[in-house]
Amino acid sequence: MHPIRIAYFLPFSLDDILFVMISLYDLLTAANGQLFGEPVAHLFKDFTLDPEQVGDALLYVALRSGQGDVQRSIEQAIHNGIAGVLCAEPPTCDTDGVTVVMSRDPQKALLDWGSYILKKLDVKTIAVAGTIARATTLAATAQVLGRRYTVYPAHTAGDGQLQLIMALPRLRPGNQFIVMDMSSSRPGEMRQMIQAFEPDVVLIPHIHCNFTRPFENCDQVIQEQAALVTERPADSLTILNYDDDYSISLLPQAKTQVQTVGIDRFGADVLAFNVLIAPNRTGFDLRYESERFLGRWTSLLGKHNLYGALAALLVGLHYDVPLSEGLRALTNIRPLPGQMNALDGLNGSLLIDDSERADVSSTLAALDWLQAVKVRGQRTFFVLGDLDANGSNGYVAGLRDIGERAVQVADVFITQGTDAAVAAQAARDLALNNGASSTVHAAYGAQDTVQTLTEMRLNPGDVVLVKGGSTARMEQVVGALLENTADREQLPRQDLADNLAGTPRPLPLRPSWAEVQPEILAQNVRTLRQMLSPEVTLMAVVKANAYGHGAIMAAHTALLNGAGYLAVASMAEAMELRHAGINAPILILSYTPESAVQQAIQQELTVTVFDLESAQQYQRAAALAGGKLRCHVKVDTGMGRLGMLADDAIRVFRHLAVMQNLDIEGIFTHFSAADDDPDHTQDQISSFKRVVRALRAGGFQFKYIHAANSAGTLLSPDLHLNMVRPGLMMYGVNPSSMQPLPEGIAPMFTWKTTVLQVKRLPPGHPVGYGNTYRTRTNETIAILPVGYADGLRRSPRTWRYVLVHGQRAPLIGRVSMEKCAISVSHISGVANGDEVVLIGQQGEEAITLDEVARWLETIPYEVLVSVLPRLPRL
Ligand SMILES: *Cc1c(COP(=O)(O)O)cnc(C)c1O
Repeated sequence: MHPIRIAYFLPFSLDDILFVMISLYDLLTAANGQLFGEPVAHLFKDFTLDPEQVGDALLYVALRSGQGDVQRSIEQAIHNGIAGVLCAEPPTCDTDGVTVVMSRDPQKALLDWGSYILKKLDVKTIAVAGTIARATTLAATAQVLGRRYTVYPAHTAGDGQLQLIMALPRLRPGNQFIVMDMSSSRPGEMRQMIQAFEPDVVLIPHIHCNFTRPFENCDQVIQEQAALVTERPADSLTILNYDDDYSISLLPQAKTQVQTVGIDRFGADVLAFNVLIAPNRTGFDLRYESERFLGRWTSLLGKHNLYGALAALLVGLHYDVPLSEGLRALTNIRPLPGQMNALDGLNGSLLIDDSERADVSSTLAALDWLQAVKVRGQRTFFVLGDLDANGSNGYVAGLRDIGERAVQVADVFITQGTDAAVAAQAARDLALNNGASSTVHAAYGAQDTVQTLTEMRLNPGDVVLVKGGSTARMEQVVGALLENTADREQLPRQDLADNLAGTPRPLPLRPSWAEVQPEILAQNVRTLRQMLSPEVTLMAVVKANAYGHGAIMAAHTALLNGAGYLAVASMAEAMELRHAGINAPILILSYTPESAVQQAIQQELTVTVFDLESAQQYQRAAALAGGKLRCHVKVDTGMGRLGMLADDAIRVFRHLAVMQNLDIEGIFTHFSAADDDPDHTQDQISSFKRVVRALRAGGFQFKYIHAANSAGTLLSPDLHLNMVRPGLMMYGVNPSSMQPLPEGIAPMFTWKTTVLQVKRLPPGHPVGYGNTYRTRTNETIAILPVGYADGLRRSPRTWRYVLVHGQRAPLIGRVSMEKCAISVSHISGVANGDEVVLIGQQGEEAITLDEVARWLETIPYEVLVSVLPRLPRL
């Protein structure tokens, strides 16, 4: 057939046809699949696992383990115009015009297809394994082999076989080698990949145990990698790192041939020595058998990447690429985008973009590099975003290690994001202890980071290393610090480059969202801190998910800006913070069950004692656990809620005095009307002080004595005692009708949506369920994709206005589950996609939480924690 006609009839370009493509025939053969109905398309360009993805000639793979309803996903994918579906069960929707292949296990079918294709094309497989520097090692290997062969470097976006297979359709017939990234996403997966792809050579330049996700411990990590030397044939080759304890530990059990690379330490087959770690290149001499090569270099930065480069040379040798040629390839290689890529920064500074991916080990390796290039008299900056994937074993400890290392290596350490803030906290703790002179700054977003750096005025000679996980998008920071905007092309994630500068927008799947601004919280906390005398500790109340703002973010931010203690409502809330790496003291304000006492002791949490019985329970459990439980005692001085009555306190304390396993650190009370009844508040504080005085006379000492919530903190410094417990005010909302908020405290919560449809209705046209609203004249209305399912309450009262183009537009008709209508006759030019604000500022206008609370006839607290909790947070 005429090639132009093919291009005309099929949604492929000629260039696409140079790729392998996924043929229906191969798929049916390799995966033992069955057709469901008549096939339409016979060739596909790519697989996709995302039913939302739109593109030509895609084959949607409906994995059984996928989230949500498989049938709905298939329907969605078909709706989005995919050409084919691979699934386990027959689709229940209309599949006209779509090729449907059924296979018992679609994931296995993919693997079988991959295996089949590599065999069919007779391509040699080189696999890069281990834990870090894989992408660079892969690139170096492809470059070295590329001196003699046609090579496909199969870069992947993440771990596991699925990611790997997604990269295979870009293989070209005629490629002699494929170099792939072989990393498992779960225990046992490595073995499956070995069986499917039968790699001829495997490189394992590094095995690190700092970061063990998805594995439980270091042993599992090593066991997974060990399959690479035990499950492959004797004539295949494995390349290990002689200097890496875990990598070389595989040597004794290897059933394959093994060769090794090393730096400086004799014994390795390929040895680099006289290594020179320079800011923009890595120099070395090389020895292999009787050959010597002096003064060689590569633009790959850092020792960790040099090992990968040396391993690449061995692969070359294995396939008759002479060392001299391999070395030339290493000299010519460009670093990959976002992988220790040296770029010209502002004012002659050197920017190292390492923002493609990050885990604990690769971050520590990058810091090693920074230390190696540090020169007296020149400043080093380390900018760290959140790492990839969290919640794993050792993650928090790893973040701490990074922080402690960073403060020793970098003159300026800036973190961005809440995970990275753990590192900032650790850096500060360490700096406090040993008087290090580094500057540590926890930033809240790319803009904040860039501004901080700009204020520090980068100079020639400054080295700025920027590192972060893929979702942290730290290339935004790099982009803003470039001397030449043309270098933006070298940043990773070009497909997302469009929104490099813009404000973050959620996926179109979520047309309504809340924006929470941590930088405002930081400012609020600092302002609050200034209202207090130095001896008063600020206890930040972050219960109920920090009043809906996000507890982890709020806790980090408060601690980094002057809070010294946290308060939550329950053990579960406290544990969420501990898991996030927050090691500040935390008071659990409400009930803690006896069964949780052991954990409370282990986690160094503080519980509330509110009567004799609770004290006895805690004492019993703490004695059993063999530890000391830290407590604050709560006295009821007129709130009529939790707490022992003031008159009972002395009697209860007589018992407390002999409870050996309770460490009574504090005493507190709570105001019932500090926002509108100063007299009652005065009575409460007097009664509380009387109790404390009497107890002191009886020999009790308290480290913390506290009473004031937000309203109390605002009302009078006399109520501060030596600790205050503000909540609402920290989030920028006024708790009191009597005083204005101090200057510098602002709200930080914005609720936004966008206009879905604009239309003109004739007079007398109903709007919404129940026809409760009818237009009087010709009226322009806008439909918004937000309803009571999102927290836009329907009844008995709802919002009166929202903001469009900086003006108020009234809500009309009833609020539906996911939609509502507003009248925009008085606002010209409203169009689809325009931003709408339901709470917050737009232009000169604002709708405050206070105002909304009044509309709903409740208080801002309730709006935040019960009306809006389903809203996606940005
Ligand atoms: C919630 C709470 C606070 C904080 O109250 P705000 O009015 O939000 O400042 C303080 N103390 C206790 C005991 C609380 O339960």
